[in-house]
Amino acid sequence: MSIANRAKGVSPSLTLAITAKSKKMKEDGIDVISFSAGEPDFNTPDYIIEAAKVALDKGMTKYTPSSGTLNLRKAICEKLKKDNNLDYSPNQIVVSNGAKHSLYNAMQAIVNPGDEVIIPAPYWLTYPELVKLSDGIPVAVNTCEKNGFKLTAEELEQAITPKTKALIFNSPSNPTGSVYSKAEITALAKVIEKAGIYVISDEIYEKLVYDGAQHYSIAECSPKLYEKTVIVNGVSKTYAMTGWRIGYTASNKEIANAIDNMQSHTTSNANSIAQYATQVALSSEKGNEFLRVMQDAFTKRRQFMLERIKAMSIVSCVEPHGAFYVMMKVSGLFNKAIDGKVMKTAQDVAELMLDKVNVAVIPGESFGADEYIRLSYAISEKDIKTGLDSIEKFVALAK
Ligand code: PLP
Repeated sequence: MSIANRAKGVSPSLTLAITAKSKKMKEDGIDVISFSAGEPDFNTPDYIIEAAKVALDKGMTKYTPSSGTLNLRKAICEKLKKDNNLDYSPNQIVVSNGAKHSLYNAMQAIVNPGDEVIIPAPYWLTYPELVKLSDGIPVAVNTCEKNGFKLTAEELEQAITPKTKALIFNSPSNPTGSVYSKAEITALAKVIEKAGIYVISDEIYEKLVYDGAQHYSIAECSPKLYEKTVIVNGVSKTYAMTGWRIGYTASNKEIANAIDNMQSHTTSNANSIAQYATQVALSSEKGNEFLRVMQDAFTKRRQFMLERIKAMSIVSCVEPHGAFYVMMKVSGLFNKAIDGKVMKTAQDVAELMLDKVNVAVIPGESFGADEYIRLSYAISEKDIKTGLDSIEKFVALAK
């Protein structure tokens, strides 16, 4: 007897070894700079924390409808109207335990065994695993650096087969930071409409855009696309609420019902206190103030990081316009060595970097980007500076 194939099929995270090692080094008193952060280094704003206290004091500590409180779903509909010009009613919204859970639910609702799901690469490492958990087949489609890692309509068209059920679309993207323009999305939309496939649109980094880039939801393209799109969003990144675990889907009623039914038998409602805090987070003007401060900090750090990387030899990067990551191309270091240790892969580069200069980064293999490492700038300016000094030193050591 052995455990289920479904469970066996999930890939272990390649980043675990590096994360575990950097943690051990820190415990041993070594000053490790980690560029691996996947969450804002800001506290959840006070007004949201106060709202959670109110929820507790008012006894909002019981079950809610499994899809979330009506008031929160109404607040989400207002947000979707205000920010994305999209009309949804509360019965099209399901609130879940973080955007990751919403993505899982969306996949479970859409994907049948053997269905193909297209994932533009580089991708967030969780996507292929979620497709596999739905017994679907993840189909990674490589994007080009010269297109800013954005999938083109032609690339999409070529990847579609009779088995294609959906596209996972992520703009702004983790890990590339690419933000698709309205024109680029409209071009993709034409192909999607013709093929009649679904889109799971992960918009979690919507508010983190720079240099005048604008977020545009693919569901805005046409009534057809609206019907076929499941928007996934949440408050983890926008309001620095990663630990509160609130995400949501916005979809047609059939999908929303299916997700709600599944959720009612699995996790039931998301945390009631966090739901109220999220309702306040979305509805208060104070959110804009917080966002401005966070965006300003990220804008400054991003600029600094790009300038530093551009000034380095051997490594390079494609300018990202959203999220809080920069992909650094490190294939120029392949076949070079430090102290006799030859680097052949991004994983080798990441491991040696941690060994030699105490800097932790995420190797690109996990994202379907074998020639890159991912650096997060959701860490202090001081750490960014120290870390980049060390990376520069590391690059110079490689012969
Ligand atoms: N989608 C992307 C692209 C992410 O990078 C993340 C978190 O890192 C998530 C979804 C998950 O968000 P949550 O913490 O709300 O589950």
